[in-house]
Amino acid sequence: MKYALVTGGSRGIGRHICIETARLGYPVIINYNSNKEAAEQTKKEVENIGVKAEILQFDISDVGQVDNAMISWQEEHKDDYIAVLVNNAGIREDAMLIWMQNNQWDKVIDTNLNSFFYVTRRAIKDMLTKRFGRIINIVSLSGQKGLPGQTNYSAAKAGVIGATKALAQEVGKRGVTVNAVAPGFIATDMTDDLDEKTLKKLIPLNRFGKAEEVANLVAFLASEKASYITGEVISINGGLY
Ligand code: NAP
Repeated sequence: MKYALVTGGSRGIGRHICIETARLGYPVIINYNSNKEAAEQTKKEVENIGVKAEILQFDISDVGQVDNAMISWQEEHKDDYIAVLVNNAGIREDAMLIWMQNNQWDKVIDTNLNSFFYVTRRAIKDMLTKRFGRIINIVSLSGQKGLPGQTNYSAAKAGVIGATKALAQEVGKRGVTVNAVAPGFIATDMTDDLDEKTLKKLIPLNRFGKAEEVANLVAFLASEKASYITGEVISINGGLY
């Protein structure tokens, strides 16, 4: 059976990606870090549409935890594989560079960039052997144009964009596509502290985006319909550049 793994599937954009990939018919593996209750809520919502869901807790920034969780999952699912991988989990820890502490830099790079490597290398072997796979990396407008106060986050997301383009060229011949989705401001816990009233004036569509809107784009890229798209970064930002 082909599964979809969504990192950070417990809340926000990730929860909606779990629901939309389930609607494509994929049983979903919901990864989370600390919010078990939220992961269980996502599981319920996936099951409500009649699709199987499993919860797999691990900290994506910790290579040991990623290896343990993913190798154990593969050992317990000898006849299954992860055909759709959505590298969605991420954090921000904003500070002007002059004030930025080592731990703020390291945590954001580990969680948003290094995790891409830790998780993807564990999933890709089966995709190559089975000659089908979809990898979708959630990046950000911040990684495309840079945002002040986010040198760590912009660097991490720009790094994932580079990795997306390189990996797409490595694995295309085996039917594996690799794309990135770059949201602008989306209403989730991550943007709860931002002043939407002021910021929306900068956005041509005059509002923050919804997690569901990002999830619909991800589901399209995960579907058969997107079989000739690879190495792309697709923006979903209400026209904000
Ligand atoms: P969110 O509401 O804050 O949710 C973050 C998710 O990531 C949660 O499920 C969280 O799990 C998980 N997570 C965080 N650190 C983790 C770790 N070390 N290991 C495993 N899971 C971890 O964020 P969001 O707004 O949905 O963001 C999703 C993605 O979109 C991120 O990559 C973010 O950078 C990107 N993005 C968001 C926006 C925006 O405006 N919201 C814009 C551009 C890009 P727990 O529930 O266990 O904490």
